[in-house]
Amino acid sequence: MSADINIQGVNKSFGFNKVLDSVDLSVPAGSVCVILGPSGSGKSTLLRCINHLERIDAGTIRVGDELIGYRQEGNRLFELQEYKIARQRTSIGMVFQHFNLFPHWTVLQNLIEAPIRVKRESKAVVMERAHRLLKRVGLAERANAWPRELSGGQQQRVAIARALAMEPDVMLFDEPTSALDPELVGEVLEVMRSLAKSGMTMVVVTHEIGFAREVADQIIFMDGGVIVEAGSAETVLDAPRHSRTKAFLSTVL
Ligand code: ADP
Ligand code: MG
Repeated sequence: MSADINIQGVNKSFGFNKVLDSVDLSVPAGSVCVILGPSGSGKSTLLRCINHLERIDAGTIRVGDELIGYRQEGNRLFELQEYKIARQRTSIGMVFQHFNLFPHWTVLQNLIEAPIRVKRESKAVVMERAHRLLKRVGLAERANAWPRELSGGQQQRVAIARALAMEPDVMLFDEPTSALDPELVGEVLEVMRSLAKSGMTMVVVTHEIGFAREVADQIIFMDGGVIVEAGSAETVLDAPRHSRTKAFLSTVL
């Protein structure tokens, strides 16, 4: 199942530094949104707010029917208890620049531990799913390998499979190929491309403009905590209206 994401009026500051300023974003179920923008523009913070790793100062974030991090009574919001936030996070997969696999667990263990411990699913069901997912990311033969025995590209594919093992409704990617050697970028993008085709709702922070052009239903350009420009690949990449978007694109194209 995939869910839509609706972000309305989100503000976030760290001290006096306003990092997200009235951010509105709507990602329809099954679509791919690519976020572009210079370093420090608030991209990672926005992703982290979507699963309440950061607490927002104003606004609302919904994933499907769930109001993330809060329950609403009348027009007041109350922060949820930690265990309820943890439950919401199970439906939001996240993949980071640095794969963050558990180094003392095999590939298979990395995939099965969370569904068994957090979602309390049966080991048989989870094992079957894990093997299916490893096959899907092209690593069926590496189930018993240790993370350190894998290349960066293989580790990132395991990280994607691990996120999918929780059967999330949306997937968030924060510069998933930025730490990889150039020759390993393609295999990770290929897995993401096929995930997009399967109908997963995805928000992807990346500088891979070719991937964005091919896969994104919507591209947003952020600068200084503001969504400066949003639209299809054709509009944002080929006919940007704002000078800041043009300046940024000239550095990555
Ligand atoms: P991006 O991912 O676009 O590079 P970030 O969301 O990481 O940008 O950061 C946006 C701004 O927020 C930067 O100025 C950064 O220094 C600041 N920031 C991010 N996380 C924190 C934090 N935990 N504490 C204080 N400032 C932070
Ligand atoms: Mg970042």
